[in-house]
Amino acid sequence: MQPFRLPRVLESFARHLLRAGFECHLVGGAVRNMLLGMDPGDFDVATDASPEAVTRLFNRVIPTGIRHGTVTVLYRGIEIEVTTYRSESGYADRRRPDVVQFVGSIGEDLARRDFTINAIAVDCATGTIVDPVGGRADLERRVIRAIGAPEERFREDGLRLIRACRFAAQLQFEVAPDTLAGMRENLDSLVGVSPERIRDELLKTLAAPLPSIGFLVMADSGVLAVVLPELDACRGVEQQKGMHGLDLFAHSIEACDAAPREAAEVRLAALFHDVGKPQAKRIDKDGVVTFHRHEEISAEITRKILGRLKCPTGRIRSVCHLIRHHMFCYRPEWSDAAVRRFVHRVGIEYVRPLFELSRADGAATAGVVSPPGPDLAELAARIDRIRAEEHALSIHDLAVDGNDLSEEAGIPRSREMGVVLRFLLEAVLDDPKLNDRERLIRIARTFYRERMSRP
Ligand code: ATP
Ligand code: MG
Repeated sequence: MQPFRLPRVLESFARHLLRAGFECHLVGGAVRNMLLGMDPGDFDVATDASPEAVTRLFNRVIPTGIRHGTVTVLYRGIEIEVTTYRSESGYADRRRPDVVQFVGSIGEDLARRDFTINAIAVDCATGTIVDPVGGRADLERRVIRAIGAPEERFREDGLRLIRACRFAAQLQFEVAPDTLAGMRENLDSLVGVSPERIRDELLKTLAAPLPSIGFLVMADSGVLAVVLPELDACRGVEQQKGMHGLDLFAHSIEACDAAPREAAEVRLAALFHDVGKPQAKRIDKDGVVTFHRHEEISAEITRKILGRLKCPTGRIRSVCHLIRHHMFCYRPEWSDAAVRRFVHRVGIEYVRPLFELSRADGAATAGVVSPPGPDLAELAARIDRIRAEEHALSIHDLAVDGNDLSEEAGIPRSREMGVVLRFLLEAVLDDPKLNDRERLIRIARTFYRERMSRP
């Protein structure tokens, strides 16, 4: 058989270990992805050299998880995770093995890994593939299968349940039936997994070509009900009475697929944009289904979900903002002032992601990704024109600021200043010609005198 062609940089990296008399194997995602003809992603290496020996051999080494035998080597501009052959036993806290034992061979090391497709190694000395658990056969069958007894593997480490879903989405593979059964029986072990690790797996799922595949496995295995119960509650909820369209869950994950792959926040917003609908759902006496104010409820629920997953606050704010505004409904008869008010309300930086969300939402009702609707393209063109004309769209664009108003119009620097500035912006959004320093000072003075100053 043809030897495996290792990336150049890795060959050169391996020479350092080999010359010092150690073994060096490329393992994990890089081997899996390259055998599938995909980009290798990051490099994981397994060796019989101890972390201390690795640290001595290379100049720039970070002790990432030295207790577990892992260091990160910075080599020619790339990061290589190097782990000493090990086996693990005794997962009392279900997260970290109690005892890490360093072992003698790559074969024993591969046996402690999660899935067969992740337990293929390439010997860097010869280019030979080491595949003791049938990983290549499963790559060909396009199957994710736990190594050994699935129940045990999932009991040892709950993160593996979510990893199975993530790999299903990334690779578009199926989960083997007994592996799926093992997941269903070990949902308890998810309890011990840290929110940050769950979040990272979810984000990797969201960046897959079709995240829906991963979310379907989550739903099917019961992982969804534990990790995202709010989304699980959307299963089986019909959007219109008697219509056999997509249920809310199917609609949400299809919207997620239809959003741009590189736009993590839009995909998050798409996934959760209707998560408030089960709560908001009402059926009136004529049998008409309504979801009054569901966008507010969805944003609120999403804030809780993302907070629980320890997402950064900036990201939570953006995603919830998109969700809160996703129900806008453009009509060609909107006046220019209405367009300016829309941009002001949404914020110019959110216009594009909001359109992406809206298109994804629209695409997911039909089940096909449709081209941009004519209405949104027209609205986008009108917004571009307004921006080119440099019309004011926010308080920062006004021809006056707080200093001007305090010095020239005698308005105190207090809460009232904000009210006056917002009033001026409203006036300018209606009529851009008013955005002139002298005129605004005059308007502000009159407004303040007649409506705000107390006698
Ligand atoms: P990617 O780098 O694309 O996330 P990967 O498969 O390389 O995918 P890593 O998290 O980098 O995933 O882990 C490298 C390898 O370590 C995996 O391929 C697997 O063999 C092993 N591994 C990682 N996490 C676990 C786990 N929770 N349980 C068992 N083995 C694991
Ligand atoms: Mg990796």
